[in-house]
Amino acid sequence: MSDPVVDPKVMDEIVSLCKRRGFIFPSSDIYGGLASAWDYGPLGSELKNRVQRFWWREMTQIHENIVGLDASIMMHPRVWEASGHVENFDDLLVEDTVTNERFRFDHLTQEQQESMTSPAGNPLSAPRKFNLMFKTNLGPVEDTASTIFLRPETAQGIYVNFKNVVQTTRVKVPFGIAQVGKAFRNEIVTKNFIFRTCEFEQMEMQYFVHPSEDEKWFDYWREQRMAYYEKLGIRMDRLRWQEHGPDELAHYAKAAYDIEYLFPFGWSELEGVHNRTDFDLSRHSEFSGKDLTYLDDEKKERFLPYIVETSAGLTRSVLMVLADAYEKEQVGENDVRTVLHFHPAVAPITIGVFPLVKKDGLADLAREIERDLREDFSTFYDQGGAIGRRYRRQDEIGTPFCITVDYDTKEDQTVTLRFRDSMEQVRVPVSEIATRIREEIKSYKRTSDS
Ligand code: ATP
Repeated sequence: MSDPVVDPKVMDEIVSLCKRRGFIFPSSDIYGGLASAWDYGPLGSELKNRVQRFWWREMTQIHENIVGLDASIMMHPRVWEASGHVENFDDLLVEDTVTNERFRFDHLTQEQQESMTSPAGNPLSAPRKFNLMFKTNLGPVEDTASTIFLRPETAQGIYVNFKNVVQTTRVKVPFGIAQVGKAFRNEIVTKNFIFRTCEFEQMEMQYFVHPSEDEKWFDYWREQRMAYYEKLGIRMDRLRWQEHGPDELAHYAKAAYDIEYLFPFGWSELEGVHNRTDFDLSRHSEFSGKDLTYLDDEKKERFLPYIVETSAGLTRSVLMVLADAYEKEQVGENDVRTVLHFHPAVAPITIGVFPLVKKDGLADLAREIERDLREDFSTFYDQGGAIGRRYRRQDEIGTPFCITVDYDTKEDQTVTLRFRDSMEQVRVPVSEIATRIREEIKSYKRTSDS
């Protein structure tokens, strides 16, 4: 089956919509911005929090035996020696000798790599190694003893807390530890909006298993992670697996697959599922001098667990959710609407509430209904402009449900419930709105396929 067709121009439209409607702004905007750093605005921070919550619920609530953690960004410098990051966390940097533009060597085409020419056709400098970790100093004195790194991944915070978690909870192997947090990489080239940035957020889950069961759990987590994206309402023909070949495998990995999404700029990594073996725990045992083996009480067996990791970017997921939801939809013969088909569970606003007109007590009635719904849903009250325009404003930010209060509401206590995707409208008693919307969120399936 051939890939769906994507249009690279859509990226510009998404970036502009994000700025215009308050999803994502350039960082330090009033100073002209900072290269590829972004701030999440009122709608963007809601969207990001909800995507995070969707993942967190999936991992810690839906799956048994997964507990949460929130480790510090700053860690003991020895952590990064043990993990291999000091020695190995490099990219090969090359420079166009004419324009001085920098590239990641592995991001060039095979032909460019072999002929050592840049995309502009100029000679490239010899590749040199570039460590991606940000260095800083802890404490007032700048000396080598105080040099620390901003964590380039959240995973290590989980490994170094393995013993703490085993000792303080009742978890038994196989079990997982989930964490969401910031990570920092001094990327050679940042691009594609929030896809690749130097400061980003990850959602990682490390699953500790008996060494004899690593392959079984690896397969299990591959299946689970793909099913998660389906639950999130992502179009499945835009997701695929990409296996790491033997020469692409990271130093710690026995097997690795990426989940790739078809972004407007092409297929790119969204998440990695890795079999990390006992590399991490054995290295941290060695470097810390602490015994990190696990004792299986029942079998009286002591062993170093293997780790199956699922590592997704949160900020990258937000871009994927935006790109997947974005549509310019033809309505009738001469109308086009911009709509974001977010899954209702992650939409920044769940319900828009409008009075048909401001007068005759309809505004007060709509306000009252909106205030009640606020207890359980994220709502937005809007009384400005024609009703059709108010619907369109909500479509553009992905609000899945709108409620309109009209003259009939006063008579029979019903309202119009309008669905974003189908634009269908139904009458619903005011007393049943909350239940109906909860059901709609639970059973949501995207209807529009474009
Ligand atoms: P790449 O090879 O593209 O640099 P990676 O394979 O090193 O990425 P991982 O270390 O596996 O990436 O990171 C796990 C996840 O973290 C990625 O799948 C991605 O979603 C996210 N991620 C990694 N680097 C960045 C970044 N610079 N900006 C945003 N998200 C990132």
